Amino acid sequence: MLKYCKRCVTPDSRPHIEFNENGICSACIASEKKMASIDWDARKKSLGEIFDKYRLNIPGKYDCIVPVSGGKDSTYQVHMVKNEYRMNPLCITFRTLARTPRGEENLQALRNIGVDHVDFSPNPVGINKLTKKAFNELGDCSLVDHLAIYSIIPNLAVKLGIPLIIWGENPLMEYGGSESDFEVARLNRDFLKKHDILKGRSWEDWVSDNLSAFEIQSMIYPEDNELESIGYHPIFLGYYIPWDAKTNMEVAVRYGFKVREKGPVMGLYDYADLDCMNIVIHHYFKWLKFGFNRITDNASNEIRKGRMTREEAVRLVKERDGVKPPKEYIAAFCRQINITEKSFWETAEKFRNKNIWKKDSNGEWYIEGWIGGDKVPDRFSNTPI
Ligand SMILES: [Zn+2]
Repeated sequence: MLKYCKRCVTPDSRPHIEFNENGICSACIASEKKMASIDWDARKKSLGEIFDKYRLNIPGKYDCIVPVSGGKDSTYQVHMVKNEYRMNPLCITFRTLARTPRGEENLQALRNIGVDHVDFSPNPVGINKLTKKAFNELGDCSLVDHLAIYSIIPNLAVKLGIPLIIWGENPLMEYGGSESDFEVARLNRDFLKKHDILKGRSWEDWVSDNLSAFEIQSMIYPEDNELESIGYHPIFLGYYIPWDAKTNMEVAVRYGFKVREKGPVMGLYDYADLDCMNIVIHHYFKWLKFGFNRITDNASNEIRKGRMTREEAVRLVKERDGVKPPKEYIAAFCRQINITEKSFWETAEKFRNKNIWKKDSNGEWYIEGWIGGDKVPDRFSNTPI
C-alpha cells in the first residue's frame, strides 16, 4: 500500500525518496531547507569565482560547455552563462531521434542568444538497437537518452579540451533523494553510479553480438585519467542559484522560447517535456512501475513553491494523473524501434508493478491506497487523448 508525503503528494514508491519521522518526504525537506537556510549569496559568490577562473576571453577558445536540450532550462542556462556571467560557452545537444518540431524551434531560439552550438547525432543504428533493448529489458525508453547525454558531454569535453561543464538542475534536489545528496554540486561518474541514473549499467553492459561497441562509441564514458588530464569540472547551476521551472520559463520566453499551444502534453506545465516525444512515454511508465505520474511530480513541486494547496494537488492527481501519452508519440516510438503497438502495450503491461496495482472484482486494475481515491481503475484504455 502506498504511503504519501503529508505535505506534498509524492508516494513512497518514488525511487530514492525518503520520509522522515513526521511523514514528510526528503524533497519537501530539501526545498524548505533551500528556501530557509542556504546562504545563496555565498553560493553565488563561489559560482562567480568558478566563472572567473575559467573565463579566457580569447576568441576561438570556449570557456565552458553548456549541455542543452532546447527546453526552458537550457535557455535559462545559456542566458545566465553568456549574458549574466559573460562567458563564452559552447552549447552541445544530444540530438534525440524523437525530437519534436517545437523542440527544434526552441533550439534555434537558444542559438539566437548568440552562441555556437553542436547538435550531436550519435549513430542511429546503435541508438535504436539500444533503445529497443532497454525498453524490452527495463521498460525504459529514455535510458539511451540519459546514457547519451551523460557520456557524450564528458567525451566531447575531453576531445575538445574544455574542462568546465555547466549542467542545469540537480535532479535529486528538485525531485527527491537523500538529504546528503543535495550538497552534491558536481555531476561526475560517481554521481551517476550512486544515483543509478543509468540503471546500474554502463555502456559495456549493452554491447552484445547484436550491438557493437563501435555502434555506441560516442557513449563510451572517458577514462578517469582522460578527465583528470583536462581538469574536468562539471557543476550544477541549480546548486549555486535558486532553480525554479516557472522562473526559468519566463526568462526563456524573453528569448523566443515557445510553450506547447495545445497545453501540457503530460503533467501541469505547457512549458515542460516538449522537446522529446520519448520522455513523455518514459514518464508514463512511472505510472505502471510506481503508481504516480507527471501531475504528481508537478503538483508536489507547486506545493513546495507555495503556489498550490495539497487539496488542489490531490484533486488534480485524481483527475488527470496517469493519462496516456498522445497516440502519435507511441506510434513514432514503435516505428523508431520497429515494434508493433500491440507489442508495445504487452511490454508496458509486463512492467506493471503488482505490489502497487491490484485487480478489482471486475478485473480492472487500481492502485491500492491511491491518493486520488481507493479504487480508481487504470486509465490505460479509457482516457481520451
Ligand atoms: Zn513531500
